[in-house]
Amino acid sequence: MRIAVGGIEHETNTFAVDTFGLTTAADFIQRRGDGLARLRGVRSYIGGMYAAADAAGHEIVPCLFALAQPSGTIEAASYEAMADELVADVKAALPVDAVVLDMHGAGVVEGLADLEADLASRVRAVIGPNVGLVCTLDLHGNITQAMADVLDLMLGVHEYPHVDMYERGVEVIEALPHLVDGEWQPVTHVERLPLLLPTSTTFGGPAGDIRDACLAAESHPDVIDCTFFHGFPYTDVPHVGASVVVTTNADPDLARRVAAAVATTVWDRRDDFRAESLTPEIALRRAVSVAARGGPVVVNETSDNPGGGTPGDATHLLRAMIEMGIADEVERVVFGCIYDPAVATQAHDAGVGATIEVRLGGKHDDLHGAPIEGSAYVKTLTDGEFVFSSPMLAGARSRWGPTVRLQMGGAGGLDVIVTSWRSQVFDREIFELCGIDVDRWDLIVLKSSQHFRAGFADIASEIITADSPGLTTLDITVFDHTSADGPRWPVDPGTHWTGSPSQ
Ligand SMILES: [Zn+2]
Repeated sequence: MRIAVGGIEHETNTFAVDTFGLTTAADFIQRRGDGLARLRGVRSYIGGMYAAADAAGHEIVPCLFALAQPSGTIEAASYEAMADELVADVKAALPVDAVVLDMHGAGVVEGLADLEADLASRVRAVIGPNVGLVCTLDLHGNITQAMADVLDLMLGVHEYPHVDMYERGVEVIEALPHLVDGEWQPVTHVERLPLLLPTSTTFGGPAGDIRDACLAAESHPDVIDCTFFHGFPYTDVPHVGASVVVTTNADPDLARRVAAAVATTVWDRRDDFRAESLTPEIALRRAVSVAARGGPVVVNETSDNPGGGTPGDATHLLRAMIEMGIADEVERVVFGCIYDPAVATQAHDAGVGATIEVRLGGKHDDLHGAPIEGSAYVKTLTDGEFVFSSPMLAGARSRWGPTVRLQMGGAGGLDVIVTSWRSQVFDREIFELCGIDVDRWDLIVLKSSQHFRAGFADIASEIITADSPGLTTLDITVFDHTSADGPRWPVDPGTHWTGSPSQ
């Protein structure tokens, strides 16, 4: 089998345009040719696709794959250029048996609210109706029936942290023979819910229960896939919200019934998804008392999660740590990471052992706090290169650029890791790179909403979430969803949903 693989993957936080401006092609890591093949062995969607294709003897024809960190709305001209290149690549690859796209589900372009439906339609236009067209998706996608209608099969991850990206990549390739042979005649129903969910791990809780309900539904011989999409609430589009997407073999009524049943469970349990918002001060006080009984305790600043489109340089939590003198209360405490390439470069220029005057973080906007000013001792310098070990991204090479471990206030002060790449923390590797063995530390403070759990759940004595002002705050009600095609719970607590009357 000959399979074209490519895609454009972006989780668009439309509220982040004020912070970053529009996202342009230059913000995307664009892989072509061998660049795609180098994802072999990585625990990502495309890593899984290669593994399955290699095992079955399929040929993958690489097309453009563009991936950017979550950020603001994509500039129209940049999207046009990337989409044109991808479509030209698919055209050049013909004849193929199938096209596989790696997409997110919450991509938004200037003047185009549904990137995925648009991109898939463009590909469909050049391959015609008889070539398989399938994709992988992130469960944070805001899914539309328009996407489902143009694609033969959409497989979203079931897990958050997304530890099953690789498995979904495998599955989408293994589905192709069934499609191409005509054994499967997939029909997909998208059951949209008027529901905006805060970040919700599937490592337990209601999201874990509903993941289990989806997997149970898949035991029916005619249910090809059942996925609960949490949706991405930090996007102002008509179709923002959670959904349940079910694909069956030629049975639209079954797809509708299964999706409605799971969606009803989601709706009935919506109160269980409410998250506790702790201020930095309260979260840190709790962490200090737990750390006294045994660490490492992990505190995550969910409101500044670069993996949801934030600047990664919020200073609210770090400032609270400094003001409460946490380094005097907890012996081994580290804050990692804060994104500030200027300070990282300044430290590299000064060298190990120097003490420098810094204005750290808080450089993108007012929402995420003001820069922290003071002296800092340069403890460790690194090139920021490491390989992830988390089950979510194991094997992926990371190049975060000049990275430094500072000690705030002077030698022996609070340890802070400063990077030149805007990213959430996934696992222990960035700490190890800077000489910190997290197992032996009492308190680890990091920026991430849920993905860090894949790397830290096994070692943390407790995880405590801090929610300061930020573009990924748990308090979704602060965002103005003026484009939504109806009321959304919990922004509008009186929102009703009684099944899928219109679909
Ligand atoms: Zn996601």
